[in-house]
Amino acid sequence: MRTNWKGKMINEQRLVQTFLDLVQIDSPSGDESAIAEFVAERLRSLGADARVDSLFNVTAKIPGNGVNQKTKPFFLNAHTDNVAPARGIKPIVAGGQIASDGTTVLGADDLAGVAAILEGVQSLVEDHKKHLPLEIAITAQEEMGLVGAKGLDLAEFTAKEGLVLDSGGPVGSITLAAPTHNLLEVSVLGKAAHSAAPEGAVNALNIAARAIAQAPVGKLDKETTANFGIIRGGSARNIVPDKVELVGEVRSRNVKKLERHTKTIRQVFEKAVKGTGAQLEFRVTRAYNQYGFGKNDPLVKRVAAALKKIGRTPQYRATMGGSDANIWNAKGIKTVVTSVGYEQIHTTSEYLPIAELVKAAELVETLCSV
Ligand SMILES: [Zn+2]
Repeated sequence: MRTNWKGKMINEQRLVQTFLDLVQIDSPSGDESAIAEFVAERLRSLGADARVDSLFNVTAKIPGNGVNQKTKPFFLNAHTDNVAPARGIKPIVAGGQIASDGTTVLGADDLAGVAAILEGVQSLVEDHKKHLPLEIAITAQEEMGLVGAKGLDLAEFTAKEGLVLDSGGPVGSITLAAPTHNLLEVSVLGKAAHSAAPEGAVNALNIAARAIAQAPVGKLDKETTANFGIIRGGSARNIVPDKVELVGEVRSRNVKKLERHTKTIRQVFEKAVKGTGAQLEFRVTRAYNQYGFGKNDPLVKRVAAALKKIGRTPQYRATMGGSDANIWNAKGIKTVVTSVGYEQIHTTSEYLPIAELVKAAELVETLCSV
């Protein structure tokens, strides 16, 4: 046990053990039932009425202690699923860090966030500290496109503010802004023929190639990117291809720019198809919506103050990636994302300094204290 500010107690040994237990329960995206039950049981042991939904999201409410009935709950979130390779994780503790054995990811993204929430909350409850009412959502399938968060029913929750513990680097960063994300699915439909008798054929690949060559992709400005990541088409060397499919995306923290670039890409394809006899299918799906807060936003100031209390200087960031925070903000719970200490995520070299995991738990405890 070690004492942090105002004598509050984070149990480092218990916290590390919780993390080790979590990563050893296989939880690749889409296979979170066992880990969801484990997390729910831990929350029930603290007196929470924890539930697991059909997507294997875990939700729990913990009443406040020493606060009046009208005190607004605070929302806490992290996700249980891991990116591949994530089966049979064997964590190795050495030199103040935890790593995998090199054959899998570690799963600190985002089980470090889950462990920090469990320990921070347990510390508050066990030590009978005064704390806010808490509303906890531990989500599934985050890495699959925020699937758990999108599907989670928040009807039981009344929190208006909260924290997502899910980004890399030392504890101290606050993600103030994240983009809106459009998914593009494009098909060019031509007409097949034998390559040796191409009269009357419409070559979908040629048309798609002309469009791709002109479509704006890459980093378009400081807050906008576009990419085509998959191309599929054709059936044989000697057949003029009649169908080419492209999978792409546009992201921007400025929704006007997002719409403008999405439109430009569509127009490039329309122009390439025009007069060729080919058909174009251009489907745009909104993956998630942006959020953005200033440093003076009350929630940002609240998180920054808690970071200072645990001895960290807040670092402000904007990201080009989405997280569950995009979904909570769209659903009416204002959230920002903080770092939980993990490094080299989504690789088999992923590792977690134990001192950072402890700081993440202290942040939870401090933020929820009154
Ligand atoms: Zn994550």
